[in-house]
Amino acid sequence: MKIICVGRNYADHARELKNDVPSSPVIFLKPDTALLKDGKPFYLPDHLGEIHHELEIVLRICKNGKHISEKFAPDYYDQIGLGIDFTARTLQNELKTKGLPWELAKAFDSSAVLGDLVPKNELAAGNWELELFINDEPRQHGNTADMLFSFNHIISFVSRYFSLRQGDLIYTGTPAGVGPVRIGDRLVGKLNGKQLLDFEVK
Ligand code: ZN
Repeated sequence: MKIICVGRNYADHARELKNDVPSSPVIFLKPDTALLKDGKPFYLPDHLGEIHHELEIVLRICKNGKHISEKFAPDYYDQIGLGIDFTARTLQNELKTKGLPWELAKAFDSSAVLGDLVPKNELAAGNWELELFINDEPRQHGNTADMLFSFNHIISFVSRYFSLRQGDLIYTGTPAGVGPVRIGDRLVGKLNGKQLLDFEVK
């Protein structure tokens, strides 16, 4: 399986990092070794500088496809959850300044945290709210109404470049409020008020 991530998909987050608001999705990949699930703790790497949390809605791809039209994109994901796209921000800024790829700052071990997935039809139609709490304090809050690119657009766009396979995960971008995590932090994520993510930083 592969992990596909969308950068700068909420305008308020693009602005907080002083990035331009993109006219087409910004895409990067993480290897399967980045996946951290089942509520296991995230061990803070000590050689990567500051590590930022990015709370994101995650889609699980349920059938193989390529060149998928937006109209049929809903057939290609069956489950939804929350995840964290951990980012070595200091290193990413260095790489960006040099015009180099982001992988070292984005694709390291355990950088893709995945919470519980729920069948998408269990969620009410319409817009969804995502919230991150660290040690019970609200840190990130977003609404899918503010996404620059819809889930269907992302699936269609990505599938023109990479074939999608059953089991692939798509991290759909983070709203504003990103910041560093520290040892001892407990991260809890809620989607429409339902807790789907809960783990500790060690
Ligand atoms: Zn992200």
